[in-house]
Amino acid sequence: MANTGKFGKRRLHKPAKFFFAGFFVFCSLSAIADERLEKLDDLKVVDVAAFRQQLAILERESDTLSLEEQNYIRLLQGYNLLLLGDFKSAQSHLESMLQSDITPDLLFRVKALLINAQAVSRNYHSAFLYLEEISRALPHVNDTRAKEHGLSVIAYTYNQLEEFDIAKYYSQALVNTATSERVRCHANHHLLESLYGLQNWPAFNELVENAVEHCLQLNEHVFANLIRVKRHSYLLEVGDVVAAERYYASYKNALEKVGYPMLIASASALAAKGAVQHGQYEKALQLARNALLHLDTEEFTIPLVNAYYTLYKVYELKQNFGSALQFYIKYSEAAKANSDNRFIQLQAYHTVRAEIEVKNQRIAMLDKDNEVLSLQKDLFEQEAKQNRLIVLILAFVLVIATTLAYRGMTGRKRFKKIAEYDQLTGISNRYHFNNQAKIALDYCENNAKPVAVMLFDLDFFKTINDTHGHAAGDWALQHVVKTCRNFMRNNDVFGRIGGEEFAVVLPGCHTDKAVLLAEICRDAIAAIDSSDSGKQFPLSASFGVAGSDTSGYQLKQLLADADHAMYQAKESGRDKVAAYADYRPVV
Ligand code: GH3
Ligand code: MG
Ligand code: MG
Repeated sequence: MANTGKFGKRRLHKPAKFFFAGFFVFCSLSAIADERLEKLDDLKVVDVAAFRQQLAILERESDTLSLEEQNYIRLLQGYNLLLLGDFKSAQSHLESMLQSDITPDLLFRVKALLINAQAVSRNYHSAFLYLEEISRALPHVNDTRAKEHGLSVIAYTYNQLEEFDIAKYYSQALVNTATSERVRCHANHHLLESLYGLQNWPAFNELVENAVEHCLQLNEHVFANLIRVKRHSYLLEVGDVVAAERYYASYKNALEKVGYPMLIASASALAAKGAVQHGQYEKALQLARNALLHLDTEEFTIPLVNAYYTLYKVYELKQNFGSALQFYIKYSEAAKANSDNRFIQLQAYHTVRAEIEVKNQRIAMLDKDNEVLSLQKDLFEQEAKQNRLIVLILAFVLVIATTLAYRGMTGRKRFKKIAEYDQLTGISNRYHFNNQAKIALDYCENNAKPVAVMLFDLDFFKTINDTHGHAAGDWALQHVVKTCRNFMRNNDVFGRIGGEEFAVVLPGCHTDKAVLLAEICRDAIAAIDSSDSGKQFPLSASFGVAGSDTSGYQLKQLLADADHAMYQAKESGRDKVAAYADYRPVV
C-alpha cells in the first residue's frame, strides 16, 4: 500500500492542477463604478504581473472606494492568492468574505472561486458543497458576468466528474447566453468536452473545427489548443491513426508557442500512443519522454498515466523487459493513484449529493408536515365550522322540536282537556268519568274496599233556565259543582254525566258515609245564594246513593241503583237524599 501512503501525503501538500484549469473562467461585476476594477478582473488571466501591479495600486486607494468596490478588490485578492499557489490563504481569505456583508452576486462569485480553491487543495467535499450552492443560486443571479462565471465553473466541474449530461446542459446554456465571444470560446470548449465524454461524435465533429478557429481569432490560444487536444484524442479513439498523426503535426508548433506544459504533455502522450499503434516505437519513446518532461511526475494525471503506459508497452514490444517492468510499475502506480483520486472526488461528490438529497427530503418532509398540519388546520376549521353549523341546526331543530312538542303537548293537553273535561264546570265529562270510575271501582274490588256512588240532579232546572235565562242556568251549574267540590277528596271521581245531572264515585266509602256526604252537598246547594248571578232563584238537588255492599262493583249497576234511589228522592219531594239500600225492591 506504498502508493496510498504517498498519495495520502501528497493529498495534504500538493495542489491538484487537475481542477486548476477551471480557474480560466473570467468574470466581472457590472455594478462596479470604477472601470479599473473590471479591467483588472480581465487582466488576471492575460498578464499576471500587470494584474498584481494594478491590484497593488487599487489596494492603496481602497479608502476612497465604495464598500462594494472594496469587496470587489477582496475578490481579486483571492484570485491573486490562487495564482500565487497559496491555496490555504486563498481559501481562508475567500471564506472570510462569506461572513461579511456582500451582495448576492459577489457572494456567488466568491463561492464559484472557492470551488477552484477547495478543489486544488483536494477538499472535494467543500468544493462540491459550493458547487451545489451555486447551482441552486444560479437562477437568482442578476449580474450577467457572475452568471457566466458560475455556468463555466459548473460545466467545467461536471465534465471533470464525468457527469457529461449535466456538463453539456450547463455548457450549452453558457454557449447560448454568452455575452462575449471570449466566454463563448470557453463555453464551446466545455461543450466539446461533454460531447466527447458522451461520444456524441456527429455533434462533436460539427462544432470542433469552428470552435478552434473561433478561439484562435480571439487569441484564446490555451482554449484553442485544449480543443485541439480533444480532437486529437477523438481521432485516436475512433482508430484513425493516420489522421491523428497528421493532426498532431498541424498543431504541434502552436502548442509549443503557447507553452502551457500540461497541454504539451497531453498532446505528446497522445501522439506517443498513436506512434505505438503505427509501429513507430522510437518515435513513441521520444514523444512519451517529451510528455514526461512537461509533467509533474508527482501529479498522477491522465497524460502521465498514458505516457508511462506507452513506455512500458514499447519496451515490452522491444523485449526490453527490465525497462518494461520499471515503467509498468510506474504506470500502475500512477493509474492507481489517479483512480484513487477520481474515486475520492466521486465519493465526495456523491456524498454531497446524498447529503443534499437528505436535506431536501427533510425539507420536503417538513413541507409535507406543514402541508399536513395546514390541511389538518383547514380540516379542523372546516370541522369547527361544520360543528358550529350542526350546533346551529341542532339548536334550531331543538327550538322547533320544543315548540312543536310544547304545542303538541299543550295541544294534546288542550285536546285532552276538551275530550275529558266538561267545559262549563271543569269536572270530568261523562266519557272520562266512566273511565276513571271503572279504574277506581276495579281498584276497590281488587283491594276489597267498599265503594259508593252518589248521583244528583238539580231540581226544576228547566224552570230556572226558562225563568232566568240560560246564563243563569249555567251560573247555577258552575256554582253547584264548585260548592260540592269543596267536600270531595282527591281520589273521588266527580263527573257531569248529563245536562244538570252529576255523579260521584267515592272509593273506600260505605253507603252511610256517602249518604252523609250527599246530605252535606244537598244542604250546601240549597244554601247557594243565586243573587251573585244577578237573578234570584232557589237551588236544590235530589240525591241517590248506591254502595258496593248492595250493588257490587259494576259501574253500570251502581249508577242504575243510585238513579233508582235518586228517583225516589225526587218522588219524595226533591231536595232529598235517598239510599238505594232503603228503596231497593225486596227480593
Ligand atoms: P226535575 O226536577 O224533574 O229534574 O225537573 P227539571 O226541570 O230539572 O227536569 P228536566 O230534565 O226536564 O230539565 C232539565 C233541563 O236542564 C233541560 C235543559 O234545558 C237544562 N239544561 C241541560 N243542560 C244545560 C246547560 O248546560 N245549561 C243550562 N242553562 N241548562 C241546561
Ligand atoms: Mg235531569
Ligand atoms: Mg232536574
